[in-house]
Amino acid sequence: MTGNEVVYRNEVSHRFARAELLRRWRAGDVSRDEVCDADFLLLTAAEYHGRPAGRPCPVCGSEDLRIVQWIHGEQLGRMAGTARSDEEIARIVAAGKDATVHTVEVCPRCRWNHLLTAVTATTS
Ligand SMILES: [Zn+2]
Repeated sequence: MTGNEVVYRNEVSHRFARAELLRRWRAGDVSRDEVCDADFLLLTAAEYHGRPAGRPCPVCGSEDLRIVQWIHGEQLGRMAGTARSDEEIARIVAAGKDATVHTVEVCPRCRWNHLLTAVTATTS
């Protein structure tokens, strides 16, 4: 143990809300434009900081579905609201700053996006 292991606490899953939104989209209750609304910042972050989701986009079937981690928190200063890799989050946490990590899936092709989980990253 180095003492700088990242510990994830208080995970909140948004998978139910995601499934419910997809169900409503399939039923025709919400339009594709409403569920596929990723903005330029999110699409760019997905391209440069995202990793492959390993599963197809639930809306368009694209294999390019990506996972992006956004960090938030009062201790982060200018880093708050930016996309970060696991390694960067580990460094930030090791420096003594707690971060709330929002894991978001983003499809660059159809602009589908949804929050998957929110979790607090801290040191043990
Ligand atoms: Zn898609």
